[in-house]
Formats: sequence, C-alpha cells, structure tokens
Amino acid sequence: MITTDTTLELLKTHFGYRTFRPNQEQIVNDIIHGNDVLTIMPTGGGKSVCFQLPALALSGTAIVISPLIALMKDQVDALLTNGIPAAYYNSSQEASVQNDTLKKLQDGHLKLIYVAPESLQNLAPYFSAIEVSMIAVDEAHCISSWGHDFRPAYTQLGYLKKQFPNKPIAAFTATADSATQQDILKQLNILDAKVHMSSFDRKNLYLEVRPGNDRINQIIRFLKTRPDESGIIYCLSRRSTQEVTAKLKKSGFKAKAYHAGLSAEKRNSIQESFINDKTPIIVATIAFGMGIDKSNVRWVIHYNMPKNIEGYYQEIGRGGRDGLPAYNILFYSYADVVQLRRFTENASNADYQIAKLNRMQQFAEALSCRRIALLNYFGEHHTENCNNCDVCKTPPRYFDGTILTKKVCSAVYRLKQQESTGMVIDVLRGAQNAHVFEKGYQNIKTYGILHEMSWLDLQQYIIQMLNQGILEIRFHENGRLVLTPLANAILFDDHPVRLAKPRKQLQAAKSDRPKHATGSKLFQRLRELRSAIAKEAKIPAYVVFSDATLKDMEARRPKTKSEFKEVLGVGKVKAERYSRYFLNAIAVYESEET
Ligand code: ADP
Ligand code: MG
Ligand code: ZN
Repeated sequence: MITTDTTLELLKTHFGYRTFRPNQEQIVNDIIHGNDVLTIMPTGGGKSVCFQLPALALSGTAIVISPLIALMKDQVDALLTNGIPAAYYNSSQEASVQNDTLKKLQDGHLKLIYVAPESLQNLAPYFSAIEVSMIAVDEAHCISSWGHDFRPAYTQLGYLKKQFPNKPIAAFTATADSATQQDILKQLNILDAKVHMSSFDRKNLYLEVRPGNDRINQIIRFLKTRPDESGIIYCLSRRSTQEVTAKLKKSGFKAKAYHAGLSAEKRNSIQESFINDKTPIIVATIAFGMGIDKSNVRWVIHYNMPKNIEGYYQEIGRGGRDGLPAYNILFYSYADVVQLRRFTENASNADYQIAKLNRMQQFAEALSCRRIALLNYFGEHHTENCNNCDVCKTPPRYFDGTILTKKVCSAVYRLKQQESTGMVIDVLRGAQNAHVFEKGYQNIKTYGILHEMSWLDLQQYIIQMLNQGILEIRFHENGRLVLTPLANAILFDDHPVRLAKPRKQLQAAKSDRPKHATGSKLFQRLRELRSAIAKEAKIPAYVVFSDATLKDMEARRPKTKSEFKEVLGVGKVKAERYSRYFLNAIAVYESEET
C-alpha cells in the first residue's frame, strides 16, 4: 500500500517539488486507491502532476488522452527531462516513430503513453495486451458539446470504462460550468467518481482594466518596461491581430500574428517559436492558447473585451503557470460591447450569451476588488480585498455626483433619447463638429454645460450611470441612450447619486514594472544558460527549468550538488543532468562579485 510519505517522496524525487499544491495530494491518493475522479482546477493549478504521479506509483502503463499534439509533445518532453519514460502517439508521426513507440509500449517500458482520442482505436489491440495502470482524460471538457472546445472523438471515450472496469479513470478540466461537468461524468461512465473542485483563485495574476483608447501606445509603453518577457495579446478579429503586430514590429518588438486563417503548418511554427522563447510576443485571436503549457508567460493583454468571463479567465490563466507574478490588462471600450452584442444577434441562444456578456461588462466596470467579482462569478464568495488588482491598488474616490448626473440626464432628455453616448458627450462638451451642427444641437439648452470636462472622463461617468441603472443603451437602435425611471427620480426628486472619480491612467513606467527580479544579473545569466541547454537538447527552455526554479536558484545560490537538489523544481534526474553547469555559472558569478 502506498502511503502519503511515498507520494510526497515521488513528488520530490521526480519533480523536485517539496509540497503539494491544494487538492493534488487527495487526487493522487484517490487515483492510487482505485477511484475514478473528476478534477476541476484552474489553468496553471497543476493538473498534470495529479495523474503523472499515480502513473509512477502504480504498476503498468498509464493511458493519457490529450487533445492536441503540441500539448502531448510538451508534457512528454517535460517527463523525459525528469527521467520518466513516456511517449506520445498520433497520426501525424512517421511510421518509424510510431513503431518505436509501440515497441516500447509492448515491452512495458513506458510509464505513460499520450494518445489523441482519434488514435485510440489504433492502439486498442495493444492496450488489451499490456498492463494498463490507469486512464487520464486531460482537457476533459472537450467531451461536452456544452463546452467551448468540443471534440467529437472525445465522445467515444465512454467505452474505456467498459474495457477497463477495474482501472481508475481520472478526468481533468478547468471548466467551471456544471452542465459540462455532469456531461463528463456521464459520458465517461464514471458517475461515482470523486469530484475535486479547486479554488479558482490564482493569486499571482494581477488584474487590471484600462479604458480602450490609444491602446497601441499604452501597449508599447507597457512592453518597454518588460524586455525579454513572453506574453500574449488577444484581439477580436484576424485583421486586428495583423494590424497590432505590424505596429509592434515597427516599434522594434518581436511579435507574430496568429489566427485560424493561417495554414496549420504556419500556426504550428508560430506556436513552436513562442514556446521556445524565439518569438516573445504573440498577437492572436482566441484560436491561440489551448494546449500551450508554457510556464513563463509573464503577461496577457486583451486588446478587446472577451465575450464572457470563462473565456477571459481561461486566457489570463495562461500567464504565470509557474506561480510567479503575471500581469493582465484588459482594454475596455463601449465600441467592443456593441460589436460583441451584434455577434450574438443571430445566435440561437442569444439571451444566454448576452447575459454572459453583461457579467463580463460588470467585471470590466467594477469599482470594487476585481478578484472578488471574478471569483464570485465562479461561485466562490470571498470577502477580503485581494490587493493584487487595479481597484485594490488605487481604490475609487467618491463624490456627490448628483448635479453632474442631472446635467447628463437632461441632455439625454433634450436630445429626445435618440442619440448615442458619443453624441451626448459631444453636445455636453460643446463640440463644434459637423454632426452637431447638422442637427442644430448647438441650440439646445445643455449644449456645452460640461465644456471643461475631458471626453474620456465624461465617458467614464456615463458608464457609471449605465451601471447604476440611471441610463440605458438601446443596442439594437443604434446604441441610443435612454432614461430609466431612476433618472426621473434624480431629475425631479433630487435623488442623490454617488460617482467615483475616473481612474487616472496608471503611470505606466512605474507600476508596470515587474516585482520579481527579472532584471538581476545572476538571473539573466541563469536564463541564458537555460536557453543554451534547451537549444542543444531541442526542448523548450521552461522544460529545462521554470522561471520559478531559476528564481529560487538565484535566492539560494547553491554551491554543492546536494544544495542544488534543494532548489524548487529540481528532481533527481535534473540534478544529475544540469547541476554541473548551473553550479559553475553561480560560482563564476560569485567570483566576479568579490
Ligand atoms: P494545469 O494543467 O492545471 O494548467 P500544469 O499541470 O501545467 O497546470 O502545472 C502548472 C505549473 O505548475 C507547471 O509548471 C508545474 O510544473 C507546476 N507545479 C505543479 N505542481 C506543483 C507543485 N506541487 N509545486 C510547485 N509547482 C508545481
Ligand atoms: Mg494541463
Ligand atoms: Zn482586488
């Protein structure tokens, strides 16, 4: 019987981690004791270890179902560098490679074999001939048509329980949607599975929302403070991925555009160059990211607002998998909301989608801790402010906004509730443009009464009024602003209104700077050494060591191999393989220091 001690030992020996992350230990034990499990854990939470460790502890070979070749390759590379015998099998491989894998499988030399669901049939005869230890279904939400990454071949996985009734099946997903979870249990025939739901809180992700104006320059200022760091910029359309990429390149950044319109070959090569740190910046549609386990993504920017919070969270979750700080910026503009609404118009489940979009919008406009709002959405009710979001960092300052609100409402009234936000702002500020003059709006009573206010500030106030239910936008009628009953109470009964001062744009240069010491010299050297080793071995740099490992190494400055083994993420095999080089680099560095 395997005890906790031995699983912890396996974790240390093979992966170099001293402690389990939340839930990992229970999941590992459940599987080892023969239970089926369903694990819901956020991206970066550490799901792989939950099946890799039981695979090591149990006798036989674990079958891992994984949806993407890139994902399999990455995980197998990582296992191999940790000295764990593993391989993957899929239809894109050459016959000789496939045969080699099958031979190892038959000879019982593999602890894990990764297979795409489409290739499972091919391997069925082999699996009946060997000892199977367990079955892991990664990215299990692909089984459900409710989910966002539905893969038809996943729906055939139900037979696994029939073929291996006594082997534990472990399903893993980051999808919080309960309809999807039920579907996974049902389709895999594991209705008695133990369900482990982890907190969705990823404390290392910094959350920030900025007004979506002059986005390119904001991004450029941000990137200048973070040389050499990897990150992803998500855009709504293919065209904007290309435009943003072109502008970044012109400013000297190494960026590539990625979208579904590119050939599979092209997409693979872009993905590869991102994983290998050759292209640090990817500007992509949401087609990018699934199946990328790169642990050192240091920032994620949403150039446009995502459709819903699930998507947003999944995308920012790709940052900071190594547990180090990652920075997230969401650019928010009303134009995006209008466009996203238009996309839903013809959908069969338009109401559902609009409800989700509304929640996303509320998050973007939140005047209290964003993390609380986010976790609330996933059904976790936290009360403590997180101190790691823009609202916590610069809390809003409130003032009596009754008069300001009255001025805005009366303009909306005088414009006969026929005009959109942009025109209402123009009229209030006394803009002298053709649109205003054409309609004779310079003659109405509220023209120019807020001439001293900036366009952006006024826009932010109107957003707050929308949020408070004072104004409403008729999206399907050219986005015209209309008054609600609450607006009437304010106009005629002096109902008081509290508004928050618009958030000044953060002083980019100061606040954007990473808290961890990417700039330190020793860290830089360790990074360079890691790159050189990775290149030689033809594996991604973060597979050699994660940023978290290098950071711990920098702090500890090990002098001997046994000290080296104490570094986070250094297991037995990696210590044998790499200690020489890193110990040497540290020694050289220290000799230069004195
Ligand atoms: P997920 O599949 O849930 O998105 P991964 O399995 O890719 O997450 O793990 C994310 C990162 O966390 C990886 O770099 C992994 O090595 C690391 N990790 C996993 N478990 C631990 C642990 N117990 N201690 C430290 N790091 C861990
Ligand atoms: Mg994973
Ligand atoms: Zn907060």
